[in-house]
Amino acid sequence: MSRTILVTPGDGVGPEVMTEALRVLDWLADHRGLDLVREEALVGGAAIDAEGAAISPQTVARAKAADAVLFGSVGGPKWDGKGFDNRPEIAILTLRKELGLFANLRPAMVYDPLVDASSLKPDVIRGLDIMIVRESTGGVYFGEPRGIETLANGVRRGVNTEVYDTLEIERVARVAFELAQTRGQRLCSVEKANVMESGLLWREHVTSLAGDYPDVTLSHMYADNCAMQLARNPRQFDVIVTGNLFGDLLSDLASMLTGSLGMLPSATLGAPDASGRRPSLYEPIHGSAPDIAGQGIANPLAQILSTAMMLRYSLDRAADAEIVERAVVKALERGARTRDLGGTLTTRQMGDAVLAALG
Ligand code: NAD
Repeated sequence: MSRTILVTPGDGVGPEVMTEALRVLDWLADHRGLDLVREEALVGGAAIDAEGAAISPQTVARAKAADAVLFGSVGGPKWDGKGFDNRPEIAILTLRKELGLFANLRPAMVYDPLVDASSLKPDVIRGLDIMIVRESTGGVYFGEPRGIETLANGVRRGVNTEVYDTLEIERVARVAFELAQTRGQRLCSVEKANVMESGLLWREHVTSLAGDYPDVTLSHMYADNCAMQLARNPRQFDVIVTGNLFGDLLSDLASMLTGSLGMLPSATLGAPDASGRRPSLYEPIHGSAPDIAGQGIANPLAQILSTAMMLRYSLDRAADAEIVERAVVKALERGARTRDLGGTLTTRQMGDAVLAALG
């Protein structure tokens, strides 16, 4: 059955690394029968220049109709100072909101050939393979009341509110339980139940779901301890599920264990509809890297690995995802390195190395 994806190359190095990801999809079409309709749309600064807004209603509608969005990073100095409501980043915020993308999946893996790129000792991180599931549409970044107010005595006060209800906790926890079932069968739920009522509710409700997943071992950890444990012994984790704020911090910490921004993919998933189709968006965690844009030296592996996640989670092509991931490892084992990894390969040459390893 033919599937449709919406490709949004974005700004800066976005289109450069996207080109290499699309070559991988072309290879899968030629060699593995991948039947994919690829639509393309402008987002971010490119869309501001051409269409007057970071994302048009037509692009949002096409994203909703597609099986997945393959997103390139957006932004850059050209569009800084355009005002809060007309920034390139509005594109991603709009897609998250309009598609209801509430579960952000950030894998942190250490590939053997890159074990020395981490700031931690090789013994601590060799073989690391964890997945952080961050709730991404609720919590303190969205809770009401919020704002800055001036009290009667003239003192100013900034207010944000951490809010989670059981529906929000349940849907993201179920994504995490299901992921744990397909991985190491261990799920660690992270909050601050010792000092926050929202954390207490989170812990109680995640615990109440555990009976539906008897094959998964559930544990709980306070967020501050989790940060410590990620630096001390990160391999103790399989899947971590947490709220928006803690997930923001912990996923950045976990990703840096792996050493390079140019290697890290991500997925953001929404709720499945009646037919089981989930809205989804796949993107590298790095930005548009304006400092190296246009030079053809960006590392395309994060975009290629995001494409592998799309194959696995949205297109029912887990075997193809594995083939792509294995090709990335093989290319690294053969010594392929872009500049961020201490080598000299261009973006295209790294794409060539992955294609050579594919077939
Ligand atoms: P960045 O991730 O773009 O760059 C940080 C550093 O990492 C830079 O030195 C860059 O050269 C390097 N880097 C990033 N990706 C790389 C790659 N694939 N290969 C090699 N080196 C790479 O972060 P920034 O500089 O803080 O942000 C630049 C722009 O990107 C800003 O406008 C920011 O808002 C935007 N941004 C967008 C997204 C997104 O679209 N999801 C995410 C983060 C930042």
